[in-house]
Amino acid sequence: MSAINDRPIFRFAPSPNGYLHLGHAYSALLNQQRAREMGGRMLLRLEDIDTVRCTPQLEAELIEDLHCIGFEWVGHVRRQSEHFDDYRAALDILIDAGLAYHTALSRGDLRAMVVEKERTGGTWPRDPDGAPLFPGRDYQTPATGDDPRGVWRLDVKAALDHLGINEVSWDEAGAGPNGESGTVCADPTFWGDFILARRDTPTSYHLSVVVDDYIQRVTDVVRGRDLYFATAAHALLQDLLGYARPTYFHHDLIMEPGNGRKLSKSQKDTSLRALRASGATVRDIKRMIGVAG
Ligand code: GLU
Repeated sequence: MSAINDRPIFRFAPSPNGYLHLGHAYSALLNQQRAREMGGRMLLRLEDIDTVRCTPQLEAELIEDLHCIGFEWVGHVRRQSEHFDDYRAALDILIDAGLAYHTALSRGDLRAMVVEKERTGGTWPRDPDGAPLFPGRDYQTPATGDDPRGVWRLDVKAALDHLGINEVSWDEAGAGPNGESGTVCADPTFWGDFILARRDTPTSYHLSVVVDDYIQRVTDVVRGRDLYFATAAHALLQDLLGYARPTYFHHDLIMEPGNGRKLSKSQKDTSLRALRASGATVRDIKRMIGVAG
């Protein structure tokens, strides 16, 4: 995809729903390093569609943390919570094309179905994160009334048929969990009919990330390898909506010392705040993650 003036456009897209940790510092500074090497522009986007968990206080602290590690961006900060209309417009395109359907079957209902199936010796297909796949359009319900459980899902098989493809592909400049790189292919049906929007949050991570990367003309997505498989869903949405595809660079994850688990926002001791409070300098933090920034 060519950028305005052919300058690559990068973005760092954290969610202000907790404190940033070393993994975020790594992702932000790696983005910055690659943007600088490629003469690109760096944008900051706040993925705050969860308006309950994302708070102005956490957002202010996140911005402060980014300043502290020397992460710099240009232009205004795009907050997803201010752009629900953009996501709705994209959802309407998919609904009008007959590719999105509404269902009131909740996650709880689904869990009960899975338990029943497994109790009687059956198995239920699961997505790469281990969640049971949605059983499809048979469970479509009319999008009327105020049922708080109502969600919109993509009919993934119909979407692939609509495009006349069996899988999606993208350029991987980093690597997937099994070393995938170069032009890679993936079958998005491994996510089942994923959620596009909910009643309380009128979009989803998959839909808003794709719409924003398009609106912000992002050419290079640099993010953690935990999102590698999600790229299949993103590529499918890009193809359906006629959006150009950025190049993806999935980077390694910083693990918790000792147990090899991925860092999470609930582990307070690796937050950038806690590290600074215990005397770590920016140089120490950069040394811990092995990025010059
Ligand atoms: N908001 C996502 C996160 O904090 C990142 C999304 C992305 O980079 O595509 O994990």
